[in-house]
Amino acid sequence: RLSKQPLAISRSYGGPAGPHYDVVIIGGGHAGTEAAAAAARCGSRTLLLTHRVDTIGQMSCNPSFGGIGKGHLMREIDALDGLCSRICDQSGIHYKVLNRRKGPAVWGLRAQIDRKLYKQKMQEEILTTPLLTVKETAVEDLLLTEPDSDHPGKCRVSGVVLEDGSRVYAESVVLTTGTFLRGMILIGLEAYPAGRLGDQSSIGLAQTLENLGFVVGRLKTGTPPRIAKDSINFSILNKHMPDNPSVPFSFLSEAVWLRPEDQLPCYLTHTNSRVEQIVNENIHLNTHVKETTKGPRYCPSIESKVLRFPNRIHQVWLEPEGMDSDLIYPQGLSMTLPPNIQEQLITSIRGLEKAKIVQPGYGVQYDYLDPRQITPSLETHLVQRLFFAGQINGTTGYEEAAAQGIIAGINASLRVHGKPPFVVSRTEGYIGVLIDDLTTLGTSEPYRMFTSRVEFRVSLRPDNADSRLTFRGYSETGCVSQQRYNRASLMKSSLEEGIAVLKSLQFSSYKWKKMIPEAPVSTIKSEPQSALDILKYEEVDMAMLAKVLPEPLTKFAECQELMNRLKIEATYELSLILQQKEIEEVRRDEALQLPKDLDYLTIRDVSLSQEVREKLHSSRPQTIGAASRIPGITPAAIVNLLRFVKTTK
Ligand code: FAD
Repeated sequence: RLSKQPLAISRSYGGPAGPHYDVVIIGGGHAGTEAAAAAARCGSRTLLLTHRVDTIGQMSCNPSFGGIGKGHLMREIDALDGLCSRICDQSGIHYKVLNRRKGPAVWGLRAQIDRKLYKQKMQEEILTTPLLTVKETAVEDLLLTEPDSDHPGKCRVSGVVLEDGSRVYAESVVLTTGTFLRGMILIGLEAYPAGRLGDQSSIGLAQTLENLGFVVGRLKTGTPPRIAKDSINFSILNKHMPDNPSVPFSFLSEAVWLRPEDQLPCYLTHTNSRVEQIVNENIHLNTHVKETTKGPRYCPSIESKVLRFPNRIHQVWLEPEGMDSDLIYPQGLSMTLPPNIQEQLITSIRGLEKAKIVQPGYGVQYDYLDPRQITPSLETHLVQRLFFAGQINGTTGYEEAAAQGIIAGINASLRVHGKPPFVVSRTEGYIGVLIDDLTTLGTSEPYRMFTSRVEFRVSLRPDNADSRLTFRGYSETGCVSQQRYNRASLMKSSLEEGIAVLKSLQFSSYKWKKMIPEAPVSTIKSEPQSALDILKYEEVDMAMLAKVLPEPLTKFAECQELMNRLKIEATYELSLILQQKEIEEVRRDEALQLPKDLDYLTIRDVSLSQEVREKLHSSRPQTIGAASRIPGITPAAIVNLLRFVKTTK
């Protein structure tokens, strides 16, 4: 369902005028918490409005953070002083780096998280953040003011209306309502309004957005049943231990709160032909699956997997929900069959023969807003100072939501203080790729982050997120603390010094082979090789080099993180030089800004086909680079746009 209705801006609400804040955030999920804390760190008086304080930081689905591509987002959020990575390091119960077989540029930092502890720590953090106030309430409507002379035809958000009819005024508003906009829960043939199990849905706000003319679509997702731990026969299943040592998410964490030996294992089991039979026999009892609304492609329900890939078995990971939790989360078994059929299905799986379901799986369908209606700072094109972040922009996942939240919170605050927007480009971070994909291409199914979406993978690594974002965050937004800035500065200078010293240590290959026999150095090579060249070999690490060349390398071998990062820099040295040239080309395109208020449908001075005009009109790209990524925008159209931009400058 797509709709576009005329702009409705005149509203009148009775009652006394309410309090005034710089920034109001609606929703205390993963986007909302990051947005609220970021706006407050940037110096704005911020109000977080959410249905229930006790669900702030709630993980609606899987008790885990990170993974392939998502781990990069976690590091980047952390580099901007975001909350989720630090809090995960205080509540993680099973750390594992995914993609280890591949290079460190695409490692996926991931951890199972203690659901209860994460929520508790997040609430502590949010409730004690200076300049941040939290209020438990539902927001029913937006307050809007007439277009001004600078922006004819564009109204401005000036506050919100709460469920009791009272008003709160704000300079900027960030909407992060997740799956709650006209949320409907579905189990079997039953359907009822709710944003999440046990939570009300948001109908008033959804109506307002549609009336304002926002293009709204519908998506769906689902979650598996939760199983009683003591009803599972773990003894016959494959046990998987966490990594030792654990790799923390946060640059500020020396170590995570639990030693690897105290962390909990996960177990692996599989579906079978009986599972497939149960799904096929009962598919008529399942409205959620029959609906044509699109669900997450990469995290499908067991019903979708059976229908799409018949005669296959599928992995089921049994993941702990917390240190003292009696629940197990069966990852891979998201389902919306009636509860009695869910029980039949679960108990037909090896190890789960006697499993007891504590909470059945369910599906949720919800409104999302076409993300081409927002700019790269996440402000809407249609309403000034109104920002959207998180699942309402068509994404799925805590990390994607948190990444947008921090950018929206920063920009909502910068807007209040009249400062230029903070935009992360595709050449600077996974956050940039995520937002650029959403704002230029839009999405018709729940969008999740992957390393394959990123062009400059060798440069945008989890280990160097601080050098990419912390300094910009500190100097341009104020959202980064002095402590983090100092730490990143120290690491940057140590890395630069370390690389320079390693480059300066030059010996013949014969001598290298004698010093480090493990290194596969070819002794025929006549020209000298540097220690940085030797460090590139998989078999060599900094500790080995420091042992044979204590002066001057010992000081670089005292910190494990520095040693790891020097090794990674050495591994990618040549690829980085090559990639830098490509990055510079893209940056030149990104620097060519298209006029913000260009009316592509009517403009005469540039030759564009009607189809191209319509595509540019709906995506409203901010730069030539973004325009060139819109499917269907021809190279000829880009050349014409380029000429136009140059003549209008
Ligand atoms: P949410 O975390 O949903 O937070 C929204 C917040 O807004 C809530 O606190 C709510 O109370 C508040 N709110 C809403 N409306 C109002 C209002 N009018 N006034 C005040 N407060 C309001 N992701 C995956 O990656 N994999 C999965 O398998 C997966 N399965 C999921 C299954 C289910 C059933 C659900 C609900 C979500 C699932 N997700 C999954 C998605 C993941 O939970 C979200 O992407 C993520 O939580 C989105 O964060 P958010 O901040 O945008 O929204």
